[in-house]
Amino acid sequence: MEKTDALLEIRHLKKDYGSADVLRDVSLTVSRGEVVVVIGPSGCGKSTLLRCINGLEPIQSGEILLDGQVLTDGTAKWSQVRQKIGMVFQSYELFPHMTVMENVLLGPLKVQGRKREEAEKMAETLLERVGLLEKKSSFPRQLSGGQKQRAAIVRALMMQPEIMLFDEVTAALDPEMVREVLDVMLELAKGGMTMVIVTHEMQFARAIADRVIFMDGGEIVESGEPEEFFTKPKTERLQRFLNIFTFE
Ligand code: ADP
Ligand code: MG
Repeated sequence: MEKTDALLEIRHLKKDYGSADVLRDVSLTVSRGEVVVVIGPSGCGKSTLLRCINGLEPIQSGEILLDGQVLTDGTAKWSQVRQKIGMVFQSYELFPHMTVMENVLLGPLKVQGRKREEAEKMAETLLERVGLLEKKSSFPRQLSGGQKQRAAIVRALMMQPEIMLFDEVTAALDPEMVREVLDVMLELAKGGMTMVIVTHEMQFARAIADRVIFMDGGEIVESGEPEEFFTKPKTERLQRFLNIFTFE
């Protein structure tokens, strides 16, 4: 896989919520096909970073570009941009009154105006791939947490995004369901999907990442290839953070 051209570029991003700085001068480039994992203590700004990328938060300064297009100059059509950026959160937010199939078809049919037949075919392929085809007519309440999260991933993929953002998608799951969701993400990575993943699953981070970023206090403190990053952290802050996970 060629990983040369930049798909996502974040330049000197600054964000605050009024008083405290939440992101201070964050710069990050993600290449096409690259998998970047972001780790860091609670409150360091990981979710805010993803929300800024997706236009869910106004920023104070800096630039975000997707595919060379500046998203942050006030002219971006976010309804279009968001179709290129798939996002999966900790909570699944599936519509409870709709089946799995209806949930995943909603965006393609209503937002993208695609043909039902084509979209359904794609949905079946994707549901099959994540092991959920037999659940296509089930309602969210009939699914386990892991199944709901896999359905949420399919819903995002249905929009045919160029990049996927994952914000602690396994954090609310029972331990036995974490694996099945991580496996879906590993498969996506193998398929060449560009991804930015926020997670506390360190083994997984090491396995899936092309590059790992450590954030603390709204800054990128250290980044590197997983092997080096986890075995030879350079900064004391990262060493201290990783020590918390040595019990795993
Ligand atoms: P993380 O995802 O790394 O745990 P967040 O991005 O959620 O961190 O939060 C970063 C900081 O911004 C925290 O101090 C948090 O309290 C603050 N914050 C997050 N969202 C808001 C908001 N809507 N209003 C005010 N402060 C917020
Ligand atoms: Mg968060």
